[in-house]
Amino acid sequence: MGLSFDIGGSRIRAARGGQALGEVTTPAEVGAFVAAIAGFLTPQDRALAISIAGVVDPGTQAIKVANIPCIDGRRLAPDLAAALGRRVLVLNDADCFVLAEVAQGAARGHRNVFGIILGSGVGGGLVIDGRLVQGAGGFAGEWGHGPVIRAPALACGCGQTGCLDTVGSARGLERLHEHLTGEIIGSVEVIRRWRGGRPMPAVNLWLDLVAGQLAMVVNVVGASVVPVGGGLSNDRALIAALDRAVRARILRRLDQPLVVVAEAGPDAGLIGAAYAGEVEFGAA
Ligand SMILES: [Zn+2]
Repeated sequence: MGLSFDIGGSRIRAARGGQALGEVTTPAEVGAFVAAIAGFLTPQDRALAISIAGVVDPGTQAIKVANIPCIDGRRLAPDLAAALGRRVLVLNDADCFVLAEVAQGAARGHRNVFGIILGSGVGGGLVIDGRLVQGAGGFAGEWGHGPVIRAPALACGCGQTGCLDTVGSARGLERLHEHLTGEIIGSVEVIRRWRGGRPMPAVNLWLDLVAGQLAMVVNVVGASVVPVGGGLSNDRALIAALDRAVRARILRRLDQPLVVVAEAGPDAGLIGAAYAGEVEFGAA
């Protein structure tokens, strides 16, 4: 595997051949940002692949990355390629997440994969017939937004009301518990009580809302596995319950697990970007 980067709002991590090279704080100014990337390059590196916490438009190459203002709106891949004299690929982090699961995680051997993130928000990435689908504008796999939840209909950061993102994330589970009981507690405590056998209507409602939307996506895209990452995937019992709820709602009859805990771990961005770089540029 070649050189890959995982770029977030607070830090830039780098790896070559699957080995970590280190990390630096994400610079606030574009010249320092380019220099930070260049600092990891050797003369042998002919290409680099980047996972970034933002939307990448595959048509224009422009990226939308709100928490790194110095590169927000720029055509990052061509700009970096010109500045560094290397070939550059930039992908959304959810896309890298699903590619990491295909490369060496829970989706090995699967051709059609819908990878989902249930963390601070609800996100996803789509692989069809073994290839990443970015889609028009780069939004393919973004199943968290759209006004589909009737009750509780909550305002979403995207400007709409009733997005799955408002109830399906860890924070969403807390919102559901507050909506049903008036009590404000963390998602970890909600799940702990549920695992302890206490009736937790918020978890039942969460399972119904998330499984309903996910079943529809599975029917549409034909996924044979759905790896789950993000904070809520740390609870295997919750993901097993989600798996049962989704399989009860899809058209296909399936006796094996469909919704499974992701395996690539915290390096998924680096692994997925490196895998995408190999596909794009050939083995470095
Ligand atoms: Zn939304």
